[in-house]
Amino acid sequence: MEDRVVSVALDEIHKRFDANEVLKGISLSAHHGEVISVLGPSGSGKSTLLRCINLLEVPDSGRLFVSGEEVILKKTRDNRTVPADMKQVERIRSKLAMVFQQFNLWSHLTILQNVIEAPVHVLKVPRQEAIDRAKMYLDKVGIPDKLEAYPAHLSGGQQQRAAIARALAVEPEVILFDEPTSALDPELVGEVLQVMRTLAEEGRTMIVVTHEMGFAQEVSSRVIFLDEGLVMEDGDPQTVFNNPETDRFSTFIKAMV
Ligand code: ADP
Ligand code: MG
Repeated sequence: MEDRVVSVALDEIHKRFDANEVLKGISLSAHHGEVISVLGPSGSGKSTLLRCINLLEVPDSGRLFVSGEEVILKKTRDNRTVPADMKQVERIRSKLAMVFQQFNLWSHLTILQNVIEAPVHVLKVPRQEAIDRAKMYLDKVGIPDKLEAYPAHLSGGQQQRAAIARALAVEPEVILFDEPTSALDPELVGEVLQVMRTLAEEGRTMIVVTHEMGFAQEVSSRVIFLDEGLVMEDGDPQTVFNNPETDRFSTFIKAMV
């Protein structure tokens, strides 16, 4: 490939659920330090796309590369596609972190416990070191005083910022965001976007499914528009927003405002 480091690449990825072909041959790549916004109507396959990257779903065909490594897939006797090497899946997952619409914090754990869970139990980071790092990340997302709180006692914006700290704590190569602000009350959206903007400015590689057009235009280095299982637009935000190649994108944008 090119000399820039490719963090994630998809080549002709297909995914169907029974008769419903959701991804119809998706190709895209995220280079190190890129922030890619993925836009598209509800049901267009955005979440499925993210879930294929971290192998929560397995693509039916096509090639997937994470951190320079191609994910090896194989066919079962009943013709399902599965990963050939679960060790590789673990290795690949350890390079990715995901932030969900519904935060997905563990409600029975404090914020600190949430953030150190994967470092301590999966990555085997010594507990004290994990705690020190967790404090640093909670500081970074602006909730250093919530260490001992339980998720239910935080606002939605604080919970999502805690979820971002949890994602940072595994020191991932790429962070996948699936509509991170869609479940928030409007007045709480800004504080989460601000944290994401800071991460982007630090040069972190991010793939962000979002309906926040301001973020897509101002923060991302690339915009991808997905519709009916295909990439309909792929370019820098200026070009995509000002000179889209498809009428579909123009229609989509008009419906957003
Ligand atoms: P988006 O995130 O763009 O709204 P999704 O990727 O969630 O879209 O869904 C795309 C399509 O795939 C929808 O029709 C949805 O019903 C279907 N789908 C997603 N996940 C599954 C699944 N696990 N089983 C069956 N159908 C699914
Ligand atoms: Mg979705």
